[in-house]
Amino acid sequence: MIAMFDGKYAFLSNFYPSPFTVDGITYPTVENWFQAWKCKDPVQFKAIATAKTPGEAKRIGRHCALRPDWERIKTSVMYDGLKHKFSDPTLKQMLLDTGDEELVEGNTWHDNTWGNCVCPKCTDIQGRNMLGIILMDIRKELRYGYGAATAGTKTSDNDKKTSEPTFKLSYK
Ligand SMILES: [Zn+2]
Repeated sequence: MIAMFDGKYAFLSNFYPSPFTVDGITYPTVENWFQAWKCKDPVQFKAIATAKTPGEAKRIGRHCALRPDWERIKTSVMYDGLKHKFSDPTLKQMLLDTGDEELVEGNTWHDNTWGNCVCPKCTDIQGRNMLGIILMDIRKELRYGYGAATAGTKTSDNDKKTSEPTFKLSYK
């Protein structure tokens, strides 16, 4: 298991520099992409999308007016951002090179939705590991082709609990 996205595996973090351009906007990291899509205000969207650091994007994103459908679409937004990130040949190969390792973003900032917090307060909480699950889905798609991953995801217990029907919701 890869249980922390640091050191050799820092590239799995959404904070890792991985610029990609969509519809004329260059997003420096997946964090910029994800935080920008939270906002309903287009001016704020642009400010977050192009913020100089992922930390800054996250800070602005925390205070923006949320899109009303955010809870419903956020997994799709994350999935799409990660698809863009791993279309880069080098990053794609690095993800493929993780083989069949389980990917979990262990953290200390109490994120038990996208990852799994390992702090003493959270020991009894099993993180949902949504980021790891999406990364493993994308890895499978990159290896076996598009559509390979969804079958696997649907049968996992974790997916049953999340009740998010699909990563392919349209939100643009
Ligand atoms: Zn914690």
